[in-house]
Amino acid sequence: MRAVTFHAAGDVRVVDKPEPELRDPGEALIRIRATGICGSDLHIYHGRIEIEPGFTIGHEYVAEVVEAGAAVRSVAVGDRVVGGFQTACGTCWLCHRGLFHKCDRSRTFGHGALLGSLDGTQADLAVVPDANLTLRRVPDGLSDDVALFAGDVMATGYHAATAVVPGDSVVVLGLGPVGLCAVQAALVAGAAQVIAVDTVASRLETARSFGAIPVHLTEQSPRDEVKRLTERRGAQLVVEAVGSPQALDLAVRLAAKCGTVNLIGVHAAPAEVHLGLAWIKSLTIAAGHANVLGHIDAVLGLLSTGRLDPRPLVTHHMALDQAAEAYALYDRREALKIVLTP
Ligand SMILES: [Zn+2]
Ligand SMILES: [Zn+2]
Repeated sequence: MRAVTFHAAGDVRVVDKPEPELRDPGEALIRIRATGICGSDLHIYHGRIEIEPGFTIGHEYVAEVVEAGAAVRSVAVGDRVVGGFQTACGTCWLCHRGLFHKCDRSRTFGHGALLGSLDGTQADLAVVPDANLTLRRVPDGLSDDVALFAGDVMATGYHAATAVVPGDSVVVLGLGPVGLCAVQAALVAGAAQVIAVDTVASRLETARSFGAIPVHLTEQSPRDEVKRLTERRGAQLVVEAVGSPQALDLAVRLAAKCGTVNLIGVHAAPAEVHLGLAWIKSLTIAAGHANVLGHIDAVLGLLSTGRLDPRPLVTHHMALDQAAEAYALYDRREALKIVLTP
């Protein structure tokens, strides 16, 4: 079968690999119908996340079940499925509390030995461990493109918006796919207004089309705009979907007293926070990646009725064989979401 593999920074290749086989009764073998390229795949592409050369990458997928282990009950052969970018066992201390994203036995697709040696989904076939918990049947009528978002990007945006109380003012910093999904999720959750901040005109325009108030990071003053729009209170929730020290600093400044800053952008290094400001404002600062398997059913429900609609984010469809070209294009920031089709 064909698989997209990492070799060195800037070097991904489609290679031929043996077809995978089931080794555990809880696994399912799936044939990929659609697989996305994600912002986190770029960390691998740039070599910032080190994985073994030749490892199959990718972690977003809609697929058809072609074989199910004896213990798999929630999906069956022939089902069209979507699954989380990481697996969860369902039986550990954290899973019992519904904190599937921190499962002790979790494995992440396409991240090498670092995250559980689980081959990625940018391939013809993939093996899904703990399939009962990791996979969901895709509701009829939901396209592959839209369903794809339930397993990662929209579930992450949804996660960022779970702190919304109806009537809140929300700021989203960074309008990549996750930030734009957070805009939609915050509005669905009852935000009175969402103020969307970025530097890219087309992304600001997309946020505006979703119902947000666009604010240009450098051509306008986000602090002045947020004050003006919130009777000087600041935002009850600031979603930081960038993952940079500057964005973190701005998020703390834009938050209202007793507000929440949710760091959904990936932070991997020390960063300074004005803790005095966070303390005096009594802020809650939340961090970490999303509990995708905890949210996937809610997200699929909202996608099914179009209340959440990520279709404008899909800017490119390409063949799996064009993966090298697709990664280069994505790296040049010329695409929001590229869907690869085997
Ligand atoms: Zn991802
Ligand atoms: Zn677990």
